Amino acid sequence: MVDNDCIFCKIAGGEIPSDTVYEDDLFRVILDLNPATKGHALILPKQHYANIYEIDEDTLQKLIVLAKKVACAMKDTLHCDGLNIVQNNGLAAGQTVFHFHLHIIPRYEEDGQDLNWIPGKSDPAEQKKLAGMIGAAIK
Ligand code: 5GP
Ligand code: ZN
Repeated sequence: MVDNDCIFCKIAGGEIPSDTVYEDDLFRVILDLNPATKGHALILPKQHYANIYEIDEDTLQKLIVLAKKVACAMKDTLHCDGLNIVQNNGLAAGQTVFHFHLHIIPRYEEDGQDLNWIPGKSDPAEQKKLAGMIGAAIK
């Protein structure tokens, strides 16, 4: 399914031009318009899925294999010192475009970016309860 009101559907389908790194039947890999670092890319499925809850497992499996290929290509060509893979779901998590996409962000020593979270403190009893609760809901 493609959503006619979705900008990433239009980019993935080639209706809106983009700096395309790679394309096949299922995906288009583009450079981010507002890159966090040099080479910041996005993998877009050509079908519309709003987020990780909606995307089908077969597409997701192929997507992670493609992510590895893109990551290796970045390492070889950009000689980045590290690489972050980020995928946001929902406004609270910083998602701004509601068409599933995977960020692949090459990292360079002293690039000045900070994608890290503030580490919290854990309570052993709560951790045990949470682990059991989430685990029991895995289908
Ligand atoms: P999100 O915050 O939803 O995880 O990420 C959306 C990303 O899409 C942002 O990094 C933003 O810079 C990028 N983006 C938004 N609109 C466009 C566009 O029209 N073209 C490209 N290439 N990237 C876009
Ligand atoms: Zn879409």
